[in-house]
Amino acid sequence: MPERTLFVGARQVVTCAGPARARRGAEMCDAGVRANVAVLVEGEHIVAVDDEAALRRSEASAEIVDCVGGVLAPGFVDSHTHAIFGRARYEEQELRATGVPYMEIARRGGGIHASVRDLRARSEAELFALAEPRLRSLAAHGVTTVEVKSGYGLTLDDELKSLRVIAKLAAALPMRVRATWLGAHEIPLEYRERANGRREYVELLVNEMLPVIAREQLASYADVFCEPGVFTVDESREILEAARASGLQLKLHADELTAGGGAELAGALGALSADHLAAVSDEGIAALASAGTVATLLPGTMLFLGKRDHAPARRMIDAGVSVALATDFNPGTSPTTNFPLVLTLGVSQLHLSVGEAMVAGTVNGAAALGLANRVGQIAPGFSADLALWDLEDVRELPYWYGAGRCRASWARGKPCHVHHLALTFPR
Ligand SMILES: [Zn+2]
Repeated sequence: MPERTLFVGARQVVTCAGPARARRGAEMCDAGVRANVAVLVEGEHIVAVDDEAALRRSEASAEIVDCVGGVLAPGFVDSHTHAIFGRARYEEQELRATGVPYMEIARRGGGIHASVRDLRARSEAELFALAEPRLRSLAAHGVTTVEVKSGYGLTLDDELKSLRVIAKLAAALPMRVRATWLGAHEIPLEYRERANGRREYVELLVNEMLPVIAREQLASYADVFCEPGVFTVDESREILEAARASGLQLKLHADELTAGGGAELAGALGALSADHLAAVSDEGIAALASAGTVATLLPGTMLFLGKRDHAPARRMIDAGVSVALATDFNPGTSPTTNFPLVLTLGVSQLHLSVGEAMVAGTVNGAAALGLANRVGQIAPGFSADLALWDLEDVRELPYWYGAGRCRASWARGKPCHVHHLALTFPR
């Protein structure tokens, strides 16, 4: 019989319990905060969330984890990262801040093509060694499920290399790691320079990369950067329809800078999520609401780029859209692994309540990955993915902004991150 572990002594247990699907509209308000309850875990799963005194009596032989008056919450689901990259691009931040335009930064060898050149020159082992501590840092901020995209390779071999690194991370780390193929992140320079290059690259994606990735099961999801100047709506549709026919689930970078029909496309395709959406149109919001496509908002990117036109989160929630929050962790526009900081931005910039922000970072993040039936809630039957916070009230989570208050996190009942040595952990 698998070992049973009883998590006791939490001042609050933020359950996020409810229907096993994305929450929308007023459903997002309730994070299910409970007091005087304990959480019983057996093996990889939560089996009971109940009165602490009663569970202590009935489970006298269970291993005890003392939450020492902290806040126990579902592990966060970071449903949008680009964690497979080589070197950092810190020099661009200062150039941008002092008014150097993006095209000039690119001309000086910066921008996304710098990450592409860099990744192509690195081995799988090197990329793994760089990415592993990044994912551990996410776990240290309470993230127990992370989506990781390829997309800095942009050749068959380099995209496969990136996805194999993600597969190795999934096998090596206790956290749940899910892979997204983002071969359509950008048109590589060598294709941009050719007359018919755009078309040739789309054909490479659909006819050469996708079949190998599907056959080797290297990704669960396909994503496209749909934005004027990158992939058009028609190209995005073609790539995503092919991906769906190959068995991948769909995500889309949509309407980050301009309302170009990306959200409408995500809705029409029934994508799991449309991400960014800072410039989404009213028609786009309506399309997401009626399709049940999760709107994954990435306010860290806006903060880092110094932009103020955040995605209209309130209008989306009022229109019945399910909103998720994620880091967009990447070397160009959001180099942060601090998930609670994203919650802070969700509250202070997107005007979410704390309950909405918690649901956006757990249940709705899980739904953006098609995992809402297993992940994101502290409820019987769900994966034992937990984070313990050195706080007395969940409202402190976005309040102490930028702080590292995660004491420990567990995925599938196994420790992901342990900070507080005074706690007793399952053996
Ligand atoms: Zn992204």
